[in-house]
Amino acid sequence: MAQPLKSAATLTEQEAQIRLRAAAFVGIGLPALIYFGISASLAHEWPLTILALTTIISVIISSALLWRRRGGYAAIRPAVACHTVLMLYLLVFSGPEHARGLWFLTLPLVSIMLLPPEEGSIWAFGSTAIGAYLMQIAGGIDGSSPYTNTYIVRFIILAVLISGVLTWSEILLQRYRLRLLAQNAALTAERDQLEKEIVQRGALEEELRYLATTDPLTGLLNRRAFMATLSGELTRSQRLHNRFTLLMLDIDHFKRVNDTYGHPTGDAVLVHLALLLSAQLRSIDKLARIGGEEFAIMLIDTRADAATGVIERLLQAIRSKPAEHPETHLPIAFTASIGCTESLPVDDELTALSRADRALYIAKQGGRDRYAWV
Ligand code: GH3
Ligand code: MG
Ligand code: MG
Repeated sequence: MAQPLKSAATLTEQEAQIRLRAAAFVGIGLPALIYFGISASLAHEWPLTILALTTIISVIISSALLWRRRGGYAAIRPAVACHTVLMLYLLVFSGPEHARGLWFLTLPLVSIMLLPPEEGSIWAFGSTAIGAYLMQIAGGIDGSSPYTNTYIVRFIILAVLISGVLTWSEILLQRYRLRLLAQNAALTAERDQLEKEIVQRGALEEELRYLATTDPLTGLLNRRAFMATLSGELTRSQRLHNRFTLLMLDIDHFKRVNDTYGHPTGDAVLVHLALLLSAQLRSIDKLARIGGEEFAIMLIDTRADAATGVIERLLQAIRSKPAEHPETHLPIAFTASIGCTESLPVDDELTALSRADRALYIAKQGGRDRYAWV
């Protein structure tokens, strides 16, 4: 029933609403209470003066606690209780025309709108019952005026009607608010889930892109990615009237490596060569594994005359840095042959690559461990 107001950094929607209501009641009620207190003291009606004063003080304390976010509903209850006692007093000592007793009808408003609706309605109906009893016995109380039964009945009907309508509308409002909160929570959960899926999908796409463009053994570009890169580089160099050198490198007698040491060691030799070539090339050059023991290299913005030194350096590095057997750590010497070609303005990726392939064939035919140009 009574929910404690949470002390979060920002006001909850419920806290904000209670503050708003409390501010409205204080704004209207406090001047009225002060007026009551003053007029009661001028009339020397001391019980009413004391009650008005007590209510004023309790309203001020309750408001201060509420604004400092201490106590929640508990902070409001003393003010509502003081107000109730004041209203019951006015009902009993309501004057010959019972005009003051009509203030009692503010009680359902105050209790139901400031307390949780169920608690507030119990408060309002309970006070009405007590009020009805006091009206019955008012005639016998010193200083009070008797009520007629008709007045009492109409008064009760009015109080019950106000309390009932207010309680019902507050309960509906509370249900609506709860439903809204649940919908918000569901939407937040759905959004979080979507965000998670987007992140997962992004990672998956990244992984797929990597798998589609990368050789799993060496981590170099694969044939497909190399062809796309070659095509792009041809377009770029043709637009800028540049040339670049395309190399096709093939390990000599690699079959023997596999046959002698086994396939896994052959793989280790391929990884070793990939690292070796990467270390020899500039970061702008492109290196790919386009077949079993075939590598393709683009020496960007490098014409044939400048490329020759690089090619010789590559072959020398392969000769001088043998691979290492993964278990025995003994060196595995090997050589490679390289087919070289310079890009032509009329080239597409297939013509350029087939020229390099032809050059490679010539190098192989020439005795291997060498390069040839076409
Ligand atoms: P050549 O000097 O004429 O190039 O002789 P080669 O033995 O290197 O050429 P060949 O085309 O006869 O054999 C290539 C070998 O490369 C055969 C194949 O088993 C091996 N190979 C291809 N892909 C892989 C791989 O991923 N790992 C390993 N370990 N071996 C591979
Ligand atoms: Mg080979
Ligand atoms: Mg081959």
